[in-house]
Amino acid sequence: MQVAIDGPASAGKSTVAKIIAQKLDFIYIDTGAMYRACTVIARSHHLDYGDEAGILKAIDQDGIELKAVNGEQKVFAGTKDISREIRTPEISANVSQVSALAGVRAKMVILQRQMAGKVNVIMDGRDIGTTVLPDAEVKIFLVATPRSRAERRMLDLQERGIKSNKTVDEIEQDIADRDYKDSHREISPLKKASDAIEIDTTTMSIDQVVAAILAKIKKSQKKL
Ligand code: C5P
Repeated sequence: MQVAIDGPASAGKSTVAKIIAQKLDFIYIDTGAMYRACTVIARSHHLDYGDEAGILKAIDQDGIELKAVNGEQKVFAGTKDISREIRTPEISANVSQVSALAGVRAKMVILQRQMAGKVNVIMDGRDIGTTVLPDAEVKIFLVATPRSRAERRMLDLQERGIKSNKTVDEIEQDIADRDYKDSHREISPLKKASDAIEIDTTTMSIDQVVAAILAKIKKSQKKL
């Protein structure tokens, strides 16, 4: 079974996807982490974030891997654990430029489909329901007000111990800028698939969102 969770930044996609994967023993794939890894690789090779050929070469040289280490998902570029670096403000501010590059998207989509293979999978991102897994049995589109997403992002950064001097207003603006770029790029923009179910998580707890998605999955499993 394939479950696709899409939506704008900080709508709670990865938090609920991780919990559901654990509960159902599905493989969880964080595709945002992969585009963030491409951005870290561009930076470490001192490349311009628009240098498509250079970035593709650097990705081939380093290699991107998502690995479970002691039950935690980690992101590697070659042998280097970049799980923390991918969440830094510098990377968040530039990932939309890198993820809009056609060659980078083509490479990541191939990798994502390979990783999904024939196993039960829950994948989160922006184009999973529309492009990566168009036949997914369950497609969810998570949304929330920009303010609540900014507040969640601030909390998330604090919990990860990532320093940021930004106010909630500034974070809200950053998120709005990223959503605009992600929704207006030419290839596979952030968009709700026509057969996706939209869930507004603004006033919902994590448990409530998890329960709502689990109910959709159970319903779909009965049909299989
Ligand atoms: O999900 P997360 O916020 O970590 O994603 C980081 C960025 O990666 C997004 O803002 C977007 O530019 C890109 N992305 C994408 N397609 C996906 C997942 C993420 O373009 N499927």
